[in-house]
Amino acid sequence: MDVLRRFLELTGIRVRHVMNVTDVDDKIIRNAAAAGVPIGEYTQRFEQAFFEDLDALRVERPEIIARATEHIPRMVELVQRLAAAGAAYQTEDGSWYFRLAAFPDYGKLSKKDLSGMEDGARVDLDEYEKDSARDFALWKAAKPGETSWDTAIGRGRPGWHIECSAMAMEYLGESFDLHCGGEDLMFPHHENEIAQSESVTHKPFARHWMHVRFLLVDGRKMSKSEGNFYTVRGLLLKGYKASAIRLALISVPYRHQYNFTFEGLTEATNAIERLRTFRQRLIAASLEEDENPELQAASQKAQADYMAALNNDLNIAEARAPIFDLVRTANTAIDQGQLKASDREAILAVLASFDAVFCVIEDHDAEPTRHALEWAAETGRMSEVASELVASQALTDEAIEALVAERSLAKKQRNFARADQIRNELAEKGVVIEDSKDGARWKRK
Ligand SMILES: [Zn+2]
Repeated sequence: MDVLRRFLELTGIRVRHVMNVTDVDDKIIRNAAAAGVPIGEYTQRFEQAFFEDLDALRVERPEIIARATEHIPRMVELVQRLAAAGAAYQTEDGSWYFRLAAFPDYGKLSKKDLSGMEDGARVDLDEYEKDSARDFALWKAAKPGETSWDTAIGRGRPGWHIECSAMAMEYLGESFDLHCGGEDLMFPHHENEIAQSESVTHKPFARHWMHVRFLLVDGRKMSKSEGNFYTVRGLLLKGYKASAIRLALISVPYRHQYNFTFEGLTEATNAIERLRTFRQRLIAASLEEDENPELQAASQKAQADYMAALNNDLNIAEARAPIFDLVRTANTAIDQGQLKASDREAILAVLASFDAVFCVIEDHDAEPTRHALEWAAETGRMSEVASELVASQALTDEAIEALVAERSLAKKQRNFARADQIRNELAEKGVVIEDSKDGARWKRK
């Protein structure tokens, strides 16, 4: 979605992007109760971590970030409108349901066969994957001990689906251009959003939909139980750069599944290195005040091919190729003294337009790594991180910094065994620690 919004901005389209934060649903209520904290306290941690990761990956913030718990009155209003339109009904326990039979177009987005649909059968789970659709919960009556709101339609809390319809229409109007989401949300969630909205507005809810495929990890679904579960900060703490994670994640078009591997991450690291080195070389080269028609043409072609690929349903994989071709051509031209000062300007402009969407050439990698290290220290993960970094082949500067920081902490806590262990581990890898009054310094032998 960041690629999409940056591309739209690059082409001069004004973007008003609304992102919702689902900060109340079945899972949240269950998990917060298990953790013994109010839902606001529970969700806040995840929201913060989420936005920190987005910042690390240089994902632009949407114009509007809307939390479900801050829009309850809009949801209540929508349920009331649905009831008035005959598309919602209340059950004995005080919950409200959407009447599927009231919306004959149900299923038009996912093109599901709903012939087995039973009239009046209900589901009150936020997430369900039944093939046959059911009347779904709009508003759930309060249960003892659960978070709830006192409203005109009774005491309770919103269902997950109504949150999105209410917030989307609040900020974008009854009909808007584009709705994005993960492929898993098409059914039932997005079908439900359409049904809830169009039943009262009688206008198309979203004119276009884009669904992103899930990523795979080593060819399999990423899951905690499979043990192939990675987080952005986890990868940063392994010594990978934020830019490499970004480039890897956007290396295939959104309609394709990206298969995450560490080889892919290393390839991304190398590709970024090539681009950055080239840009430095280009800037530093002393060039004649002239232009080379061949390079002018190559720059124009690269720019045109790049934009054409992105225009073709955001084909990000094809968009890369002309840029790397241009880098090769220009490198050869510099070697042969054929590149002139105005060619440099033309090529830098192409690189800038590439980076407006890809955001990997300009180096902003230090901050996310530093932040991840701080987080690891604050949450007591430093020793876990450090040993992982030692285990990984490449001992990056960040890895050494982390170990040295952990050693200082261990000494402060009088854990001299651990401090010595770190010194020895580093020594084995050719890194010497020198203690001074200003703290520990290190150098490679
Ligand atoms: Zn939604």
